[in-house]
Amino acid sequence: MSPTPLPVAPTWWAQSRISPDITLLREPWVTELLRCNVWHVRGKRRDLVIDSGLGVAPLLPQLDITSGHEPVVVLTHTHADHVGGWHEFPSRWLHEREAGLVDPDTSEPDLASLWAADLDIQESDHMRAAGYELPDCFLTAVPHHGFNLDSLPHHPAVPTRLLREGDVIDLGDRAFEVLHLPGHSPGSIGLYESREGLFFSGDAVYDGPLLDELAGSDIGEYIDTMRRLTEISVQTVLPGHGEIFGEQRLREITSGYLHRRDKT
Ligand SMILES: [Zn+2]
Ligand SMILES: [Zn+2]
Repeated sequence: MSPTPLPVAPTWWAQSRISPDITLLREPWVTELLRCNVWHVRGKRRDLVIDSGLGVAPLLPQLDITSGHEPVVVLTHTHADHVGGWHEFPSRWLHEREAGLVDPDTSEPDLASLWAADLDIQESDHMRAAGYELPDCFLTAVPHHGFNLDSLPHHPAVPTRLLREGDVIDLGDRAFEVLHLPGHSPGSIGLYESREGLFFSGDAVYDGPLLDELAGSDIGEYIDTMRRLTEISVQTVLPGHGEIFGEQRLREITSGYLHRRDKT
């Protein structure tokens, strides 16, 4: 679409150690809107990977998986910036309400191209109105020579476990409760660990412009989710985008959303 060649990135993934057993991976060459946080949690019995990036470069080989552990990927939801590396993992879990969106027989790509001009017009208007800049291209570099910018890889793969509200994901030394948090998307989930107050929140809540008018979004459900999150007790929110924050900022974000959207 554009003749301007992008440089080849020296390395695709940037990693930072959040704690002895939690690593954050990001794709610095993906523009802000689609730069998702991938969280790798090393447990005593299994390694959990929360979300999987855009899928333009392999994720699994980058992970320092604990020897003998089968890595499990859990999607907070199936938007293109979270589902990209899903097919690489032998164990693939997500909420039952989005199972059809990764089914090889029925699924359509959430995003087929890396060019903003190819976005659905209503969705791009919503993103701009929310405060996002939409650059021409969602990448500022390519992962390798010959990379095709005109089609985003789409690798649907059947889930190996469907998650529901209240399910427990046990890593051996810590366990996460599945919270169903619809609104941004129908099957959005968060993973909550009450002992340390850890909350992996996906795109249900992060410290940036929230999106509630995408295909599959539901503002009424989002209001209920935000009401629920005003009650939750957390130490650390590890979101789907942007930086880590704490309970006070969570309260500000949820009350800000409810002030803006909840007129009842
Ligand atoms: Zn999303
Ligand atoms: Zn996202």
